[in-house]
Amino acid sequence: MSSSSQRVTQHRLKGLLLKRFGMAAATYALIALVCAVALLNDLLPPPAGTGLLFGGLVALSQLGFFILFRTGKNLRFRDPSLTEAQILVALVWLTLLLAAFDQGRGSLLVIYPLIMLFGVFQLQPRVFVRCALLAFFGFAGLNLFEAYSLRLADPAVAILQISVLAVVLVWLSLFASYVQALRRRMRQRRFALQAHQDTLRGMMRQLEDLAATDELTGLFNRRHFLRLASRALEALEGGRHHGLALIDLDHFKRINDVHGHAAGDRVLQTFATVARACLRDGDILARYGGEEFVLLLPNTDCEQFAACCERLRDAFSRAEPMGVKVDDLSLSVGMTLLTLHDDLDEALHRADQALYQAKRSGRNRCTAAWEAVDA
Ligand code: GH3
Ligand code: MG
Ligand code: MG
Repeated sequence: MSSSSQRVTQHRLKGLLLKRFGMAAATYALIALVCAVALLNDLLPPPAGTGLLFGGLVALSQLGFFILFRTGKNLRFRDPSLTEAQILVALVWLTLLLAAFDQGRGSLLVIYPLIMLFGVFQLQPRVFVRCALLAFFGFAGLNLFEAYSLRLADPAVAILQISVLAVVLVWLSLFASYVQALRRRMRQRRFALQAHQDTLRGMMRQLEDLAATDELTGLFNRRHFLRLASRALEALEGGRHHGLALIDLDHFKRINDVHGHAAGDRVLQTFATVARACLRDGDILARYGGEEFVLLLPNTDCEQFAACCERLRDAFSRAEPMGVKVDDLSLSVGMTLLTLHDDLDEALHRADQALYQAKRSGRNRCTAAWEAVDA
C-alpha cells in the first residue's frame, strides 16, 4: 500500500474510532442523567465528597481515552479501538456506581449488557468472555461484600439479580461468538470472491489479447489495428502527421507454389520478426490480411517515414526464413500521411493506390502518396 493511501486509511480509522468513542461518552452522559433521576427520587444518596470524586474519576478516565484517540497513541496497541479496555473500565465504574444504589440496583443491572454490547462486533469470543466474567464477578463480589459486612438489604433479591445477570451474560457471550464466526465466514467469502475476480480479470485480458492478435504472426489483427489507428487519429494534433503504410509481400503465391504453404507461413512469420526488430515501441504493425500488412508510425514526417519503410523493405530482402531457402524475398510498400481531420478509410485507400503504383513500377520498392496530402 502506498504511503498516501496508508495515510487515508489511518485518517478514516481515526475518524471511526473517535465516533465510537463519542458513542461511549454519550452513553456515560445518559447514565449520568439516569443517576440524576434516581437522585431526584431519593434512590441515590445526595452527592457528598466520594460521589463527586467518583464522578471526577469517571470523567478523567474518559478524558484519558479521548487523548489517546485524538493523538493517535491508540494505534500503538494491538487493538487500536481499545474496546476491551473501555469495556473493562466501564464495568468497574458501573459496579462501583451500583454499590451506591440499594433499591434501584435491579433497574440499573441492564447497563451491564448495554456495556457488553459494545464488544459484540469487536471482541474475540475469548476476550468477550473475559469481560463477561469481570462483570459477573464484580457484581457478585459487590453483593458478597455487602452480605459479609451485613449491609445487604435483601439477599433473595440479590441472588435473583446475580442469576439474571449470569443468564444474560452467558447468552451475550454465545451471541458474540456467533457474530464473530459470521464475520470470519464473510471475510473468507470476500477473499474467495476477490480471488475469483482476479482470475476472471486475467481471463478477460487473455481473451482481449486473443481477440486482438493474429494467430500466425503474433501481430495485431486488422480489427484491432483499425481501432488503434482511429484512436491515434483522434489524438493527432494540428500540424503533426502519422505515417500510414500498406505492405504487400511480392509474388507470395509463387513462394507457396514452389515451397509449399508451410514455407509460406514461415515467410509471413519471418516478416513479422524482421518488422518488429525495425520498429519502435509506439509503432503499430498489424496483419491486414493474407500476405498484406499495415503500419502506423505516430508523429512522423515524409522523410522519417519513408526512411523507416525503406529500412524495413531492405531488412526483409535480406531475411532468411528458418528451414526454407527462398531467393529474392521482397515486398512493396504504399505510404501516405495521416493529417488532422483525415478519414482513415480514405487514407487507407491512398496507401492502397500507392501500393498499386509500387507493384506496377516493378515491385520491391516504397511508393508515396504525399502529393495527396499537405505534408
Ligand atoms: P503480388 O506481388 O502482386 O502481391 O503477388 P502475390 O502472389 O503476392 O499476390 P496474390 O494476391 O496473387 O497471392 C497472395 C497469396 O497469399 C495467395 C494466398 O494463397 C496466399 N496466402 C494468403 N494468406 C496466407 C497464409 O496465411 N499462409 C500462406 N502460406 N499463404 C497465404
Ligand atoms: Mg503479394
Ligand atoms: Mg496481396
